[in-house]
Amino acid sequence: MFKTTKGLVLREVRYKEADRILTILTESDGKITAKARGVLRKSSRSAAATQQLTWSELTLFGNRGKWTVNEGSVLEGFSGLRDEIERLALGSYFAECLEAFAVEDQPDPALLQLGLNSLYALSEKLGEPEKIKAAFELRLMCLTGFQPDVRACAVCGKTEPEDPVLSLEDGVICCRSCRKASWDGALLEEGALAAMRYVVSAPAKKLFSFPLEGRALQNLSRASERYVQAHAERRFSTLEYYRQFTEKTI
Ligand SMILES: [Zn+2]
Repeated sequence: MFKTTKGLVLREVRYKEADRILTILTESDGKITAKARGVLRKSSRSAAATQQLTWSELTLFGNRGKWTVNEGSVLEGFSGLRDEIERLALGSYFAECLEAFAVEDQPDPALLQLGLNSLYALSEKLGEPEKIKAAFELRLMCLTGFQPDVRACAVCGKTEPEDPVLSLEDGVICCRSCRKASWDGALLEEGALAAMRYVVSAPAKKLFSFPLEGRALQNLSRASERYVQAHAERRFSTLEYYRQFTEKTI
């Protein structure tokens, strides 16, 4: 069965001499694994379309749950990512997160849109990388069933908690003084809670339009990544790689 769909290539692994095994977030079928034969040969016309972090139109052949990429053409190559290693590393982290949270064979337009918008913003330098990262991570959590409840302290009910803490496991906020000893939490600096509140409810196209910079932005970004890790129950090698480029600035 042949099918034409659009897909974001999350991962490519070289296989045999000239093949690639791809993980693709497709419009029609959600996350799939597909083999792309011969794409590493010089004569191949589908090499660019099957490269990691590329949004492509793909003709797939499906047989008993196994997919093969028959043809591909690039729709958006996010070329801005390719000329700056820090942004490329962060884009790879977005891809690893999407792969970790996307469900196989289940289309998820909102998740796909988040991935595309975030990579586009990163590629076109529409904001500081840390801002795009924090917004991506928080929104990813919202879309995959882990939306934090950021309205008020979960213990005393104050709508403006004092020295707010994000409880990583429960996805609630509380005042520092209300925090239970057993809660693994991330302290939120001034402005970070307001930014979180913005990100959980902002329209998709305005996701990155919040004013936060410097220390508070770093703080939000760290809290967001810890929140992702707590729910993914794993670490991300691409994040560790990205941090090699940012550690010196923190
Ligand atoms: Zn409280």
